[in-house]
Amino acid sequence: MTQRLPRGLFAAALVTALWGCASPPPAAQRPSEASIAAHVAAATQAAGSDLGEVLTLCKPVPASRPVQGEDSDRGLRALIDRPAPPPGRAFDNLYFVGGDWASAWAVDTPEGIILIDALNNQAEAAALIEGGMRKLGLDPGRIRYIVVTHGHGDHYGGAPYLARKYGARVVMSDTDWTMMETRLEFATPLWGAPPKRDITVKDGDKLTLGGTSLTLYMTPGHTWGTLSPVFDVSWQGQKHRVLLWGGTGFNFGADIPRMEAYGRSTQRMAQVARAEGIDVMLSNHSRVDGSQGKLARLRQAGGTGPNPFVVGEPTVERTLTVMNECSLAQRDRFALLP
Ligand SMILES: [Zn+2]
Repeated sequence: MTQRLPRGLFAAALVTALWGCASPPPAAQRPSEASIAAHVAAATQAAGSDLGEVLTLCKPVPASRPVQGEDSDRGLRALIDRPAPPPGRAFDNLYFVGGDWASAWAVDTPEGIILIDALNNQAEAAALIEGGMRKLGLDPGRIRYIVVTHGHGDHYGGAPYLARKYGARVVMSDTDWTMMETRLEFATPLWGAPPKRDITVKDGDKLTLGGTSLTLYMTPGHTWGTLSPVFDVSWQGQKHRVLLWGGTGFNFGADIPRMEAYGRSTQRMAQVARAEGIDVMLSNHSRVDGSQGKLARLRQAGGTGPNPFVVGEPTVERTLTVMNECSLAQRDRFALLP
């Protein structure tokens, strides 16, 4: 038997179900110049003096996706051609083998290497990933898996070459495999062809090799199928937990559902970060996480002392707050477009 609510209570319950509170949202929460300013202010406060690079996400972005063509290829060429930083060891079991613009990370285990991202093309994979590994005393022949965080060529371009050469398996989300197979978001001859579908993972799947597990979280936004790995690293006998954010920029135009998905991803990963004690946050572009400067400091210290990559749990949470508030500011800007 169902119990009938008095009419007024029923209406209140319906409003609660729709809005999550008993009254309509205050005006400040509806998209407006004031709401944009409030989100930017919250992001700025969370950014403090150390997260200025992440805060650039709050700058207004174009309402349409950048068009690929000769001009954008020139810009891309310039990014790819910047002199690469030296490869480096960030933790006992984690190595940077990236370029100046895009990063690649090698997770070393007793049973082989998990590579996270594969740079723009075969030439970079050979010079920076294979070359960088050799400089660091790692054998690229031990690469077993290549996790491609998302379906843009600056992360997958070198994957087919490495997969072919070493028999490594390529890991992606179903959503981004499908995007690459059916409607590549960006295409340019400067990138290698997308890898062929290999291992497909879903949210929360674990990729385990030699005692190290990567939990692969779906963090849709930058692409709909972006993967952000979470895993353990060690430094001087201490365990630390890493979140590698798989896709940062808002380069998809005025797509409000996608911007909102980005916001939800940052919120959800802030909960995961709290629950799992994540104290290191990395990116696949070194401009975002400052990895080149941190590696330089580690080199100067001769690999001893405190590790600048260990920023602590509050800073990881602040980083996700900055990203969240900036995504909300951008969403509100899109909502105000004519
Ligand atoms: Zn991308």
